Amino acid sequence: MSTETFEFQVEARQLLQLMIHSVYSNKDVFLRELVSNASDALDKLRLEKLWDDSLDADVSDLHIDIDVDADARTLTVQDNGIGMSYDEVGRLIGTIANSGTAKFLQELQEAKDAAGAEGLIGQFGVGFYAGFMVADEVTLVTRRAGESRGTRWTSRGEGTYTLDTVDDAPQGTSVTLHLKPADPENQLHDYTSPWKIREIIKRYSDFITWPIRMVVPAGPDGSATAGESDETPGADAPEAETLNSMKALWARPRGEVTDDEYHELYKHIGHDWRDPLETIRLQAEGTFEYQALLFLPAHAPHDLFARDSKRGVQLYVKRVFIMDDCEALLPPYLRFVKGVVDAADLSLNVSREILQQDRHIEMMRRRLTKKVLSTVKEMMTKDQDRYATFWREFGTVLKEGLVTDPENRDVLLSVASFASTHHDTEPTTLKQYVERMKDGQEDIYYLAGESRQSIENSPHMEAFRDRGIEVLLLTDAVDEVWADAVGEYEGKKLRSVAKGRIDLDAQDEDGSGRRRA
Ligand code: ADP
Ligand code: MG
Repeated sequence: MSTETFEFQVEARQLLQLMIHSVYSNKDVFLRELVSNASDALDKLRLEKLWDDSLDADVSDLHIDIDVDADARTLTVQDNGIGMSYDEVGRLIGTIANSGTAKFLQELQEAKDAAGAEGLIGQFGVGFYAGFMVADEVTLVTRRAGESRGTRWTSRGEGTYTLDTVDDAPQGTSVTLHLKPADPENQLHDYTSPWKIREIIKRYSDFITWPIRMVVPAGPDGSATAGESDETPGADAPEAETLNSMKALWARPRGEVTDDEYHELYKHIGHDWRDPLETIRLQAEGTFEYQALLFLPAHAPHDLFARDSKRGVQLYVKRVFIMDDCEALLPPYLRFVKGVVDAADLSLNVSREILQQDRHIEMMRRRLTKKVLSTVKEMMTKDQDRYATFWREFGTVLKEGLVTDPENRDVLLSVASFASTHHDTEPTTLKQYVERMKDGQEDIYYLAGESRQSIENSPHMEAFRDRGIEVLLLTDAVDEVWADAVGEYEGKKLRSVAKGRIDLDAQDEDGSGRRRA
């Protein structure tokens, strides 16, 4: 069989260079990334088989195996999940589809100082490529469920990778890392040590719903810690140990789960490397029981406004994963919220169409929406900085809700904040605006435009500036739409200073009526 050599796409090559020169201080997370991908692959296969029973794939024992070989210095993460076709390997592994990457690399080049650059990199997720932090060569062998032949991908991360076809690949994907030489200074990071692997899995991947197994030689370093063994140990026979508890975090008592554990779940489902801004738990009892664990990310994804952007949270039914991006569970203006909703009384093969029409789901959506909004409101009073971050990242999307969700309009208006002539940089809430209104001022004034600067230079502003009347400066495309749709706040009309005649004289402090706007 012929081996073909390909070049990495430019962005992919740049990222790999960063990996190889190891910019992350915590290299352990490479394993979290490989396990996360393996877990996704198992979820996908289970679902595909559920929808198409004729698919030629074995789903009787879906799991992840980790195998370490100290002599060869290799570490292999193998799953028997969906796998990839030859074309998919080239497309998914050889290139970076994430359009945020180019932007990120640009920022990186602009960040002149090393500290700034490191901060940036630390925030950026590299998924599969994380393996190159600890390996100088990576081999991936995969076979797409239903296909007979597999594909081998190999790279040293230096600009090219090779692909060849393999005849006897098992179902799923195995990723073998040829680990960099051991660092005698840093024994703690020996990834051929079963003890180390156990610790990393416990820390980052305990909640993964598929068994993560490792065969360890029986003996002092072997079965000493907790974990169920899958095979009866023979005299010196190696033993497969399950490293993770597989317990769903949302089903565990609240007090028992640490923030770090929640954050790791967020990173897995959100494909993010950063901690979330906020974790929200909700438990509904009664006729329609469900548990929700939702996260507000700390940063907006690059595709927040793309038409085909992913939206919605994951749906589980009694701990079984049902679907990703379940748009029926939250309104579109909360599409950035990540998380899990686990409902007790849904059918395992419920479809998106059915969900859209289900009365219980509708009630759930309303409740989840209110819970998210009340969390934002709470953030506003308890933690100003956090709220400011949230609004900077997601305010534009939330304002869509002012138009599309009349039921929650009041709470949306109460958590919204806007640039204003009152302050150069600090946004104001409508409540604060009203508190500052001049005697006799009846309306809330705003002007929409391209940028703060262009609005401030508008001739319409002059009369307001002269009289010291505050004007909200609205620069998002959605602003004009919502302001029209909403019309008023707490009985005060929202008025564009560019529209209609505004009689400022009535509220002129000295009443001299010099000018009309
Ligand atoms: P992400 O997981 O955020 O999509 P990654 O770099 O981790 O980014 O993975 C890129 C893609 O490669 C995945 O989306 C998936 O399609 C594919 N992939 C990676 N690992 C596996 C695997 N073990 N099985 C099947 N597909 C995989
Ligand atoms: Mg991944």
